[in-house]
Parts: sequence; structure tokens; C-alpha cells
Amino acid sequence: MATVIDGKAVAQTIRSEIAEEVRALSQKYGKVPGLAVVIVGNRKDSQSYVRMKRKACAELGIKSFDIDLPEQVSESDLIKQVHQLNVNPDVHGILVQLPLPKHINEETVLSEISLEKDVDGFHPLNIGKLAMKDRDPLFLPCTPKACIELLSRSGVSIKGKKAVVVGRSNIVGLPASLLLLKADATVTIVHSRTTQPESIIREADIVIAAAGQPMMIKGSWIKPGAAVIDVGTNAVDDPTKKSGYRLVGDVDFEEASKVAGWITPVPGGVGPMTVTMLLHNTLEGAKRCFEKKH
Ligand code: NDP
Repeated sequence: MATVIDGKAVAQTIRSEIAEEVRALSQKYGKVPGLAVVIVGNRKDSQSYVRMKRKACAELGIKSFDIDLPEQVSESDLIKQVHQLNVNPDVHGILVQLPLPKHINEETVLSEISLEKDVDGFHPLNIGKLAMKDRDPLFLPCTPKACIELLSRSGVSIKGKKAVVVGRSNIVGLPASLLLLKADATVTIVHSRTTQPESIIREADIVIAAAGQPMMIKGSWIKPGAAVIDVGTNAVDDPTKKSGYRLVGDVDFEEASKVAGWITPVPGGVGPMTVTMLLHNTLEGAKRCFEKKH
């Protein structure tokens, strides 16, 4: 049976480490890291993610700047807000919660965030540096960073291993593959046009699944002893639940946990780690800023 990687426990450990560093910064510089979380409109899911991020800031001593804008806000007004946050010296990270309403171009808004405050790591220059040899981005995107952190804190070595990433989105699959490559894995990317994905996945020592396809990856697709990080978070109908649904990953956990060496559950795997990585990025941004000024 696979070792189940407890994302909640790992996240808790890292949060304690962050809180400790925030205290140390506060003593040394008399200042704490600040994160601005910008939300536009009233989407219930976005509101709940934003609440979670703001609460986590409060728990760790990070100052949160709450910018709540109405659904009808214009693109130029939103950009004005971003510019104000860019020059606010108490703000070290800016997060614009996605998706934005249809009348606003996400790419335009995200590229206005100062590179030094791009804690989501989505700025094209940060992603570009991630893709280049011997260049270091200022921030790593949170979910892929969470995947690598879970592997390394579980004692899974990446160097020289065969890794397969399922999915090639800008926010998860592509940057996860680039991070694995930087860590010296030999990386293959599987996507929706890949033929016979199972034969490719079966070769992998490390699988990162981020396709958004409920339980697509079966136990028989996994190489015995492989490390499986399941990013997928899919709601499937479940009449036995009060809500009428439950969350499952892209991997058939029941089957795969009998074959893999390590596996993350859904929920309780990558999910709790993603917000923690956002806080970690904010801490890193603040440290760079404080150290530069002294
Ligand atoms: P996207 O829909 O943007 O991308 C999905 C990717 O998977 C695409 O590259 C797509 O290929 C590929 N894909 C789709 N179907 C298949 C298939 N049958 N076989 C192989 N590849 C396939 O999703 P995201 O990257 O944003 O998210 C992926 C999953 O991760 C979702 O379930 C999401 O909810 C979850 N997620 C979880 C987070 C967390 O913190 N736990 C954070 C972010 C996402 P193509 O490019 O060809 O279309």
C-alpha cells in the first residue's frame, strides 16, 4: 500500500515555519509582509477562496489588504487599483482572484501586476524565466510549487527520474512540468490529444495529474512504487452526501493507492498546500523588499 501524503499536515508544518519567520521579520525590521487580495463580483466559489486566503494571512501575522470591487467595475478602474497596490510599500504580494467578469481581459490585468509582487507567479516574465536554463523567476506558481514541496518533504527524489505531467494549463500543468525539468527529471506531458496516455503514464516514477477529469487514471496505469500527486479537484454526484456531491481527484485513489509508493488524497492533498505556497511567496517577496532597503 502507498504512503498517503497528508497535505494538511505538511501545510500546517510550513505555516508554522512561515509564522516564525514573520515574527522574526517583525522584530528585525518592525514590519510584516502584506498581501493584497483583490476580488471582483460575487461568485460564491471565488468569495470562499478569498475568505480562506485572508483568514490564513491573519493566522500567520501577514497583513491582508482587502480590495472588494463590484461586478460592473471597468477594466481601467481595476488596473488603477492594481497600480495603487504596485506602489504601496506595505504590500508585498498582489493576488487578483480569477476568473474575472467577461468584460475584463484577465491577461491585460495580470500583466499590470508588478513583477516584484506577482505572488501567483502568473506574469509571463516569471513563467518565461521558469522555462529558461539558469534563470530564476521571482515567484513560482503556487499549485506547481505545492506539488514539488509535497514530493521533497515526503523524501521523493526527482533528479534523474521519469516524470509525467497530465495537463498543460498555464497555471498547473505547464509550470509543473518546467519545475520538474529544473529539478532534473526527464519530463513528458500528456494532454487531451495524447494517444494511449496509459502506456506513457505507466513508465513514470512521478505522476502529477492535473487534467480535471474525475478518476481518469486507473491503478493499472501506475508503475508500482511511483509517486502520484493528484491536483485534480472534481465534484461528482453523491446522493449519500448532504451537499449532493463529493470531491474526487483525477486519479482513482482506491485502485492507485494499492500500486503507488506515495499518493496524495483528494481532498486533503494538494489543496491545503496551494494557499500555503501563496503565503510563502508573500513572505519571500517581503524579505526581498526589506533586505533591499537595509
Ligand atoms: P484546465 O482545464 O485549464 O486544463 C486541463 C488540462 O488537462 C489541459 O491541458 C487539457 O488538455 C488536459 N486534459 C483534459 N482532458 C484530458 C484527458 N482526458 N487526458 C489528458 N489530458 C487531458 O485545468 P487546470 O489546469 O486549471 O486544473 C486542472 C485540475 O486541477 C482541475 O481539476 C482543477 O480543479 C484542479 N486544480 C486544483 C488546484 C488545487 O489547489 N488543488 C489548483 C488549480 C487547479 P488540452 O490542453 O489539450 O485541452
